[in-house]
Amino acid sequence: DRLIAPVAKEREDHLDRTVRPKSLADYVGQPAVREQMEIFIGAAKKRGEALDHTLVFGPPGLGKTTLANIIANEMNVSLKSTSGPVLEKAGDLAALLTNLEPGDVLFIDEIHRLSPVVEEILYPAMEDFQLDIMIGEGPAARSIKLDLPQFTLVGATTRAGLLTSPLRDRFGIVQRLEFYNVADLTHIVARSSALLGVQMDIEGAAEVAKRSRGTPRIANRLLRRVRDFAEMKGDGTVTAKMADSALNMLNVDERGFDHMDRRLLTAMMHNFDGGPVGVESLAAAISEDRGTIEDVIEPYLIQQGFMARTPRGRILTNNAYLYFGMPVPKRLQD
Ligand code: ADP
Repeated sequence: DRLIAPVAKEREDHLDRTVRPKSLADYVGQPAVREQMEIFIGAAKKRGEALDHTLVFGPPGLGKTTLANIIANEMNVSLKSTSGPVLEKAGDLAALLTNLEPGDVLFIDEIHRLSPVVEEILYPAMEDFQLDIMIGEGPAARSIKLDLPQFTLVGATTRAGLLTSPLRDRFGIVQRLEFYNVADLTHIVARSSALLGVQMDIEGAAEVAKRSRGTPRIANRLLRRVRDFAEMKGDGTVTAKMADSALNMLNVDERGFDHMDRRLLTAMMHNFDGGPVGVESLAAAISEDRGTIEDVIEPYLIQQGFMARTPRGRILTNNAYLYFGMPVPKRLQD
């Protein structure tokens, strides 16, 4: 189990709900996304129309679900939420669509995992607000067409490239979420501490922020563990020193890397001589699922400049060698 896994493991609990921003004004960072969404939402409201279908992509834990909820709040409509793998049959999606009120947001998480039959239903629903579905089987089967209310589909995916192009083309708005910088994460940690009643100084918030892999979900999770530590080992106040000791104990290093990151980097260094190596070989070497490497582990290592993706495979950069105190290979010295 990874403490710093950006994927939500358990169901959201009341502490998660307490800190989740509800309005665009509380959505920290992502200035381009916020600025654009403010305009698109404002304009749709002014026209009294549903917001255009919106695709949000980016690594887990960066705020895709949060943004979907904010869109619904700002538009004053309800949000119905589901996910790609849950919608097995065309009827599952039809049931959701026919329950929408005008303007509602339908949020589909992991939209790249929709089955082709369900995706087929979605096209006319998105384009013409029409439900076009076959009911029954064999000679009794017939196709029915229903008008749907105007609604907004908000789709979330880890990588835009995972979507089929007909699906991607049906989104009028596409937003890409970036990893958060330390200043924004410090803001998020400070905000969450205030909401949860955690005593914390700004240096403590910055220390947690620095080690959160650019990811708000991880920042909030680390905050909760650091708070436990401060309550048991100190007077309850989270200082930089307290956060540092807690995170060291939890094996989250000063860059926010944990054993999985280090395993991936050392496997590349020792088993594959720094690459290039294909993701399948890497997955086998560290006994990890390919998707987890691509969606969860490597995006942050790439963003931090520890590895790079090339047409021939993944390669380590000199930062990775320096991090482990290893000599940098000649080919990487410029
Ligand atoms: P995703 O759907 O991309 O996996 P979530 O939207 O569930 O991520 O975000 C995880 C948590 O991180 C949320 O519960 C929320 O508290 C926090 N969070 C995400 N984005 C922001 C943000 N921009 N500002 C403040 N907190 C955020």
